[in-house]
Amino acid sequence: MTVNAPATSTRSEALFARAKAVTPGGVNSPVRAFRSVGGTPRFIAHADGAYLTDADGARYVDYIGSWGPMILGHNHPAVRAAVAEALLGGTSFGAPSEREVLLAELVTRLTGAERVRFVSSGTEATMSALRLARGVTGRKFILKFRGNYHGHADGLLVEAGSGLMTTSGELGAAAPSSAGVPEEYAALTLVSEYNDPAALDSLMAERGHEIAAVIFEPVVGNAGVLIPTPEFLAALHRVRDSGTLLIADEVMTGFRLSLNGATGLLGLEPDLRCWGKIIGGGLPVGAYGGRAELMEYVSPSGPVYQAGTLSGNPLAMAAGLATLGALEANPGIYQQLDRYTGQLAAGLRSAADRAGQPLSINRVGSMLTAFHQGVPDGSIATYQQAAASDTAAFAHFFQSVLAQGIYWAPSQFESIFVSAAHGDLELERTLAAAEQAYQTGGTL
Ligand code: PMP
Repeated sequence: MTVNAPATSTRSEALFARAKAVTPGGVNSPVRAFRSVGGTPRFIAHADGAYLTDADGARYVDYIGSWGPMILGHNHPAVRAAVAEALLGGTSFGAPSEREVLLAELVTRLTGAERVRFVSSGTEATMSALRLARGVTGRKFILKFRGNYHGHADGLLVEAGSGLMTTSGELGAAAPSSAGVPEEYAALTLVSEYNDPAALDSLMAERGHEIAAVIFEPVVGNAGVLIPTPEFLAALHRVRDSGTLLIADEVMTGFRLSLNGATGLLGLEPDLRCWGKIIGGGLPVGAYGGRAELMEYVSPSGPVYQAGTLSGNPLAMAAGLATLGALEANPGIYQQLDRYTGQLAAGLRSAADRAGQPLSINRVGSMLTAFHQGVPDGSIATYQQAAASDTAAFAHFFQSVLAQGIYWAPSQFESIFVSAAHGDLELERTLAAAEQAYQTGGTL
């Protein structure tokens, strides 16, 4: 089995040219276009275990795992068999079916949520949880943190326009981070700084009575990995003193950091949680859940409307059941993921040190970001600190390891995801490629 990436990727280039003629930017989700690292995105022909194979036949050790879902590795036999069996029974009913009950029973058992509602993406999960929070509280405002991503619903596409940002307790309206989001929508979203408990406390003291929910990534993956401090977690739990609901967005961390996600790992007590990615085992599923008294506000039990033609889709439920079932049956997977990713972190650290390349690694379990900047490991805690990374040095690293058959996340500000299919051989290949990348490092 060889891992090789040809110097030219002619089929990917041809497919990308055709794609650009029919799809904006040639991709169906922006980060896939390699804009921040340059070069041609690889078009993937198939995936197996820890590997992706592109349209030119090059194989890569995959550190994206479809951006999180593929925790068991690609094309896992149990997931494939479950989807194949479901397929024989028809692909969509638009009526309730047993697999939805089974998956909801499994999710409630693993997470302690009393009720769960399935949707088809993480975006729908967060959007619906926020509507529910507004419906329950009768309040208009929501609060999110700079550099956290919760999907692309209008009110969540607000970010760090520096002059408009709320920092260190100062209040400010957040700017839309996308064209097409009216300022009036963005004005209902307040933004505070991640890992700044004083800023959160003072914003809550002033506006808490108007804020329906605070939504947060319990371990951030979308600014690169950022780890919450205990003080910040304590401040998050204090928001409930104002009657504000605390929503943990576990779309990325759910079933990845433990069987009960970051909530289990960090001892969180959120009112509502959102899931995606692993819960669907690589098929489109999202979910939100929490205590029955809150969730029973959702239609048809209550007045908060939310629906979906393909919600609870039998193939997607089958993939989720097989994936979560395998994790529950083999909880040792979490130790295995932690060990692999720990060795990866240690190997990257020493390779960068040998080459004299500045690097700062943040890691929780199988989520890791190696920021290209010379501050101690674990010290990058805010979006602003993450943003100080040398993106040109990262681009060099990315292209160098890609050419050596390692598919890293194509942005400095993303987590990588390790799967249970990654083993010693993949670790060795990855560290050999990283050694070369750092030795030839600097900028492109
Ligand atoms: N929340 C978080 C924390 C995410 O990481 C993502 C996607 N990366 C989403 C929400 C949105 O999920 P989806 O892309 O499935 O809509």
